[in-house]
Amino acid sequence: MGQIKRDCPHCNTQNTAFHAFGEHKKINTQIYTTAFYCSGCYGGIIAEIKLVAGHTALQYKGEIEVNPNLKMIREYPKPSKSVIPKSLPGNINKFYSQATDSLKAGNYDASSMMSRKSLEVAVKTLSPKSSGSLYKIIESLAKQNMITPDIKDWAHIIRDDGNIAAHEEEPVNREHAEELLSFAEMFLMYTFTMPAMVKDKRHDDDTKA
Ligand SMILES: [Zn+2]
Repeated sequence: MGQIKRDCPHCNTQNTAFHAFGEHKKINTQIYTTAFYCSGCYGGIIAEIKLVAGHTALQYKGEIEVNPNLKMIREYPKPSKSVIPKSLPGNINKFYSQATDSLKAGNYDASSMMSRKSLEVAVKTLSPKSSGSLYKIIESLAKQNMITPDIKDWAHIIRDDGNIAAHEEEPVNREHAEELLSFAEMFLMYTFTMPAMVKDKRHDDDTKA
């Protein structure tokens, strides 16, 4: 059976081997819908492969993509690419990327720590004189209209008022890590990405006028 190398959309292993294990020819074409499994987690992907000549992807032995007689037409699902809010200061960008990478790798404690860190550095950047818990600072940002009431209400996800020690001993589950990352994403979009977009737009208008 032939194989291809891909980043696995299921276990997120980079550049891992996927082996063909089944195929079905599309009627009146030379295109085969071909099933592959990940050599690490056995999760599946599907590719449509055009047979120019010779063996099909299933019959062929070796790397499909070095064989000019087998042409990849399309494939699904694709590994999900993480989207990082634009216009973040360098350090926040770094912490946020680590939060997304850790989440993809299934390291929920590391992910939630980095989500929290990106939020902490963000609020310090926005409001350098503020002190107290992260939750309290976010509440005060809402009072100064620097974030919307909806974002403030969602900040309960941070749950850090005097309870940090208790929470730190429990492993973080996937749902919590995901929600914390979504909150960080929304917060950073609102406080860094959108103001930068507005600023850009204004400059555009200045040059036109
Ligand atoms: Zn896999």
